[in-house]
Amino acid sequence: MEQRIIHACGHEQAHHLTGFDSQQERKAKWLKTTTCRDCFVAEKRAEEAAAAALSSAAISHLDLPLLTGSDRQINWGATIRTKRLAGLTDLYNDADCDACLRVTDAKWWIDHRDLTDVDLIAAATQAPDMQSASAVAASITDMPRTA
Ligand SMILES: [Zn+2]
Repeated sequence: MEQRIIHACGHEQAHHLTGFDSQQERKAKWLKTTTCRDCFVAEKRAEEAAAAALSSAAISHLDLPLLTGSDRQINWGATIRTKRLAGLTDLYNDADCDACLRVTDAKWWIDHRDLTDVDLIAAATQAPDMQSASAVAASITDMPRTA
């Protein structure tokens, strides 16, 4: 049956409780100690925003290339990249993270978001746009110097 619960945050929310009376009572009692759904979502969003702000600050010294992909991929990929690079640059020096810093394919960041730090660094050195980046770097070094 539906029951209106006044949550710890002071907001009232309807809940559909199932089970025996004693189970419903226990669930209702527990629900009263929690925040309502809106507050829960708002809290999570605030936590995520705070974490994202911290990550952005942690990598603000890096001159990151723009990501490529669809708008959606770029937005999501950038969020993942910021978060992962903040973690990586905290643990490793910038040289170790170099390959990761140069991956510009938003989809790559999305596809590799769950890798461990070590695997992410290894994968970045194999990333297709990384290889082209080193090819460009190589062709620049091969150019005759006029000095
Ligand atoms: Zn609330």
